[in-house]
Amino acid sequence: MFHIQWIWRSTDNRHRILFVVAMFFSAISSLMLLINPYLSALLIDRVIIAQDKEPLIPILMGMLAVQLVRLMLRFAMNMMLESTSQHTLYRLRCHLFSVLQYQENSFFNKYRTGDLMTRMTGDLEYCRHCISNISYQVVDSIVMFVSTLVFFLLLNWALTLLVLIAAPLLFLIMRKYSRLVRPKFVAIRERLSELNTAAQENIAGNRVVKAFAREDYERDRFNERNKAFKEANLDVNNTWLHYYPLIEGLANFMTLITIFAGAYFIIQGRLTPGELAIFTSLSWALANPLRNFGTLINDVQRFFSSAGKVTEIYYSRPLITDRANAVSHDKESIKGHVEFKNVSFSYNKEPVLDNVSFEVRPGETLAIMGPTGSGKTTLISLLVRLYDVSGGSVLLDGCDVRDWKLQELRAAVGNATQDVFLFSDTVEGNIAFGDLAMDEESVYDSARRAAAHEFIGRMPQGYDTIIGERGVGLSGGQKQRIALARALAVKPAVLVLDDTTSALDMETEMHIQQQLGQLPFPCTKIIIAQRISSVKNADLIIVLEHGQITECGTHSELLKKRGYYWETFALQSDTGDCKEVCAHGT
Ligand code: ADP
Repeated sequence: MFHIQWIWRSTDNRHRILFVVAMFFSAISSLMLLINPYLSALLIDRVIIAQDKEPLIPILMGMLAVQLVRLMLRFAMNMMLESTSQHTLYRLRCHLFSVLQYQENSFFNKYRTGDLMTRMTGDLEYCRHCISNISYQVVDSIVMFVSTLVFFLLLNWALTLLVLIAAPLLFLIMRKYSRLVRPKFVAIRERLSELNTAAQENIAGNRVVKAFAREDYERDRFNERNKAFKEANLDVNNTWLHYYPLIEGLANFMTLITIFAGAYFIIQGRLTPGELAIFTSLSWALANPLRNFGTLINDVQRFFSSAGKVTEIYYSRPLITDRANAVSHDKESIKGHVEFKNVSFSYNKEPVLDNVSFEVRPGETLAIMGPTGSGKTTLISLLVRLYDVSGGSVLLDGCDVRDWKLQELRAAVGNATQDVFLFSDTVEGNIAFGDLAMDEESVYDSARRAAAHEFIGRMPQGYDTIIGERGVGLSGGQKQRIALARALAVKPAVLVLDDTTSALDMETEMHIQQQLGQLPFPCTKIIIAQRISSVKNADLIIVLEHGQITECGTHSELLKKRGYYWETFALQSDTGDCKEVCAHGT
């Protein structure tokens, strides 16, 4: 019932009315099915047996009119249902997409892309199918069954009861079938999601598959899921095939009883031949709804399992949202003063950061170093509230980030992440992603600062070159530079670079560092990097180990401490990665 209410609430009044009218038309056209058998009975009893020709033409005209009106009603019903279902689907899809937009990171950690895509396509389509098809079939079956039953009872109640002798058994069988088949439809739905996830991951990771020559393994893995999906479908089908002969047999049994008992009633003079004609020509109207009940149960169960998957997303609300009394900040007046005060954080009770405190004043540069997994990325994700702190607080311009308006907070912080994601759009579209009204000059300027202008100029259509999905067609370093240009283009008050220059050569990196030092707008920089050359000029360097700050200071101060920083420095001096640093001494 909940899922039906959900669909009902998801559409607008106009389409609700259209739906009700369509159901009304469906009911009327089903009721009209009784008229022609009734007219046939008149034809037999009055025209054929009583040899009265007078009513012949009106009866035939009546039969024709009934057919025509039914046809028109069905046509109108289909049009209305199609419009309602498409419109409702459109609204649901819009809402679902916007729900996805505002979900936090933990949501995307929980759901896999293939699964979400299945919910947005196959499951939603099944909800539409429910509106446009299942709904009227249910109404048809109920109206047809009840009206025929009443009609039969009025005509001859004794024969009707005889015809219905098998109905309770049929009902019990259907109930058992329904209970049996429900979890099987949930299983089909799960297998489909796994199948789509396997396909999606394989396509997205095709380069890795090729690089490791894992095509055969991937094919087998996909086939396994494909087989599981096929088997889940066959399982439902087999269950149906077990019950089908029983259901079909009982339905046919009803027709047989009608003929035998009807003939007996005629001999006894308790039924006219015309009335028997009504019984035989309409016995399907009792048997078919009972017979269709099985397929309808399948459809409805499938709808429930799909609707359950869609509503799970539809009603999921992000925990990270604007507080009721969130403070608004004017972008121009944001200074970029960042402060972490005794910050702790855990992923699902797994502690990652422990009592981290530091401060970066407006315009300063903070560098964060530390081994992989020490919590650097997690630390900066707390600044833009991709996650909320478990303890302590993160302040931007002296205001707790949880008190900021989320959109303003995120607009104030430019991010170029480790895992660069570029959209399948032009280079210009990608750089101007943060502000689609950005003028060309700003795009070029950001690209210049990110040392990207030159290589973009060498591309076939320059800034209008379409980049493939995820930036396919560009080198790692080129992607990083476009991502950096994208982050710079919005002129953020705080710029966060998470390993953004790791794939660049030293010369390009130096150019970028120089540019970052003379940005034409006030900007606080937070740089996560492993190269000493990337961090040595920072106003403050912190070393994070196991979620704690173990070293903190400037380049020369940290070298004196002879800890992690010094070791990294020594290592990079040996490998020559740090020639430039050594050349300038400490
Ligand atoms: P770094 O950036 O220093 O390499 P991260 O901040 O990415 O480190 O990760 C810190 C720790 O948190 C690691 O142990 C990592 O396994 C864990 N971690 C990172 N992301 C998640 C997540 N989404 N869910 C659970 N644990 C995570």
